[in-house]
Amino acid sequence: MIEQKYIWAYGLKNAVEHEGKAVVGSVIPGLFNCGLKKDKIKDEMPGIQKVLKEINSMKIDEQKDKFKDYEKLIGHRFEREGLAELPDVGKKGVITRFSPSPSSPLHLGHILTIGPGFLYVKKYGGKFYVRIEDTDPNTIYKPAYKMIEKEVKWLCDNNVEIVIQSERMDLYYKYAENLLNKESAYVCECSQEDFKKLVDAKKACPCRNLTKKENLERWEKMLDKNGYNQGGAVLRFKSDIEDKNPAMRDFPLARINLNKHPLQGNKYRVWPLMNLAVTVDDIEMGMTHIIRGKDQRDNAKKQKMMYDVFGKKYPWTGYIGILHFKGLVLSKRKMREGVESGKYTGWDDPKLPTVVSLKKRGYKPEAFWKFVEQRGISEVDKIISKKDFFEVIDNFQKEV
Ligand SMILES: [Zn+2]
Repeated sequence: MIEQKYIWAYGLKNAVEHEGKAVVGSVIPGLFNCGLKKDKIKDEMPGIQKVLKEINSMKIDEQKDKFKDYEKLIGHRFEREGLAELPDVGKKGVITRFSPSPSSPLHLGHILTIGPGFLYVKKYGGKFYVRIEDTDPNTIYKPAYKMIEKEVKWLCDNNVEIVIQSERMDLYYKYAENLLNKESAYVCECSQEDFKKLVDAKKACPCRNLTKKENLERWEKMLDKNGYNQGGAVLRFKSDIEDKNPAMRDFPLARINLNKHPLQGNKYRVWPLMNLAVTVDDIEMGMTHIIRGKDQRDNAKKQKMMYDVFGKKYPWTGYIGILHFKGLVLSKRKMREGVESGKYTGWDDPKLPTVVSLKKRGYKPEAFWKFVEQRGISEVDKIISKKDFFEVIDNFQKEV
């Protein structure tokens, strides 16, 4: 027997597309995708007609509303085809990026993050950067560099430019110095606890009032191998010490980390934190549009503050809500533990939602892109079960 939900899905789709009237002949072809066998049509017909009768007795608004519950099953979009148009697209198209950390190979969550930016560059032309953010030596899983490179090339059909942040350190230092010269940053020697106590009370620490010269000397001391110890000083951005949001107040830009970096070894001791490195790269690469998780809103504000200091226009930014997958392991730590302990046969174990596993199972990137198009740039969080998600993807997979 064909599952009722598919009759509802295709029945409602047909109805909302045809002024509230579903016709059995138009519904049947869709049902072939969902397990309806030709030689069983006769047996299934009463069940199908019963649902259609019910659908046709509904008002069109009710049908549209109800269809929302079923839409995801069959991946239909009755409001638009593809992603919505982006604002401010120039003649050269869109420059955007995806910024993974090399702490594990990529998984399903990454595919869905890559999707919008990649599809927009495909649509408008421009450039899609994959920027490996590896300026925290503590969180790197070395094999991930090569894996990510291979995975994004496969996903994006080679239309990507891959950049590794730890190879651009001079640039971050240059911008840090610029900020010091503009007196928009300072080197803070306070302990984390002391600093926190002060900013929580909206009070500046003593380092904030140093002269430019003193700050540049302290910066040299950060870079000097005989200078500060790890934790001895941080570079801070001079924001608004009375900002409503405590996280915005004089946030850190760079710190000393003496741990060995998997690519750079002990060549560098001062490492830019995410907000500095991201801002520098976004400026240097000429980002025009950024699509990011809505949990990045505070970081976007911090980065915009630096853009303002450099007199640059901040890129258009779109936010996407979080998609929670019920029944899927997406924790990098858990995946890695499982791979290392032998619980999984490797990163391509069919139980894992990694890109290598999905590829091995025969999935095509286009099936996921269709899902991305259907979801659009929406800030709404969603919960989806593993089963429902793969039903949708499997249907898309048949289409592509
Ligand atoms: Zn201080």
